Amino acid sequence: MVRRKRVFSDNRFNFFPLIILILFSVFIYVGYVFFFNKPSVKVENKLLSSGGINSVIERNDTLIKSVEIYFVSENKIEKKIYESNENFINEEIILNIPYQNDNEILKFLKKNENKEVIVKHKLIYENIFFDSEYVSEKKLNVDILPPRIFNIETDGYTYIGGLGFIMYDTSPDTEKTFVDNGNGDLFFPITLKNNENFSNLVFFSCSNKPCANNKLIINAIDKAGNVLKFSQKIRTIKNKKWDTITIPLPRELIRNKFNMIFNDNIEVLEKEDFLKMNIDERIQNDNKIKKITEAIHPSLLFDSSFKQLSNSKVSSKYSEKRRYYFRGNPKEIIDTKFHYGIDLSSIKNAPVYSSEKGEVVHVDDSLGIYGKVVIINHGLGFYSLYSHLSDIFVQIDDKVSKKTKIGTTGTTGFAFGDHLHYGIYLQGIPIDPVEFFDKNYLNIKIFEPYKKFINKKKN
Ligand SMILES: [Zn+2]
Repeated sequence: MVRRKRVFSDNRFNFFPLIILILFSVFIYVGYVFFFNKPSVKVENKLLSSGGINSVIERNDTLIKSVEIYFVSENKIEKKIYESNENFINEEIILNIPYQNDNEILKFLKKNENKEVIVKHKLIYENIFFDSEYVSEKKLNVDILPPRIFNIETDGYTYIGGLGFIMYDTSPDTEKTFVDNGNGDLFFPITLKNNENFSNLVFFSCSNKPCANNKLIINAIDKAGNVLKFSQKIRTIKNKKWDTITIPLPRELIRNKFNMIFNDNIEVLEKEDFLKMNIDERIQNDNKIKKITEAIHPSLLFDSSFKQLSNSKVSSKYSEKRRYYFRGNPKEIIDTKFHYGIDLSSIKNAPVYSSEKGEVVHVDDSLGIYGKVVIINHGLGFYSLYSHLSDIFVQIDDKVSKKTKIGTTGTTGFAFGDHLHYGIYLQGIPIDPVEFFDKNYLNIKIFEPYKKFINKKKN
């Protein structure tokens, strides 16, 4: 008996802790699910603007069944701004809720301008065992008044590929301002503090066509993200034709260029090879030039017109349209490109001088289709580019003038004969260099507006 009993009690002794352990584990697991398997919400706005709110909801292994978002004012008035009963199954739910056209919401925010409003998210979610409600609240200050734009001054016109200027003031709450030509290019100002406000001067171009709808859009944005857009009429004077030229490609010469640019050794150049060079490589090269010429040096480094390469002729104009075919096969146009600079032809290995005062910002022994290149910064976002050079005599950071010999012309890169491909860039955008050879034009478009702008500070 005693023996049996002992056996029995041994069994109980082994079984009981196991049950306790299982119960304890279940308790921990359910507790874990209850406390940790719930969604989280992050409101990304720092202030409440008239634009909208952005929030990110993390699902955290739950199933989100509905989302409601409210604004709650200091005196507890609620305004629903969003509601969805969709089953959200993505791990991360990004909600961008614009309300700039919702007058009810804007009216609510206007009443609470400069006050605190709670952004309340109410989520119904299901985790493994049960449905629950999750509420998150974030207090934000309301700022729906956009900055102001005033005192606009411009002569209101440009030429094709030409330069324009616009001056305007913005209110003290302005955090960022720029102009948009509607053709994909943005231009940023140099800015001065003028009493309480900011004075801005922007040099711009509509690129090689008129600004979209003949308008330049001035944007002013505040800390909260409120945007004021003001459209200014800009007339584009069509002073040039878009010449179209057709270029027969000598296959063997292009093959040699290809092998040089890509450090390759192909025997026959196919259409794809040419396109690799004229499209892919060109895009890469242009992006690199854009990056180098985007920055706005805050002061003007030049004070006179630019000098064209001595004894040279413009052999190819800005914005010329080039159609390429392989020699002997004129019916098959294999590519079309605009020429975003001018070609200057002189003697072979002609000396190249800096066209005006500036600082060397880039020297390149092999910038793809551009070959050996020098880029000079002239201040205020203006740069000049010298390409296809055979030799380079300057280094980065060198201060240069019209007396500085920077290199010699050549045929490096994708050039058929010895010439200088000369470009002027404004904030990364190529514009027509010919305007820069004209002192009167620079007076009207750069020197006088700049002088007037600088004097604003003194008044
Ligand atoms: Zn060229």
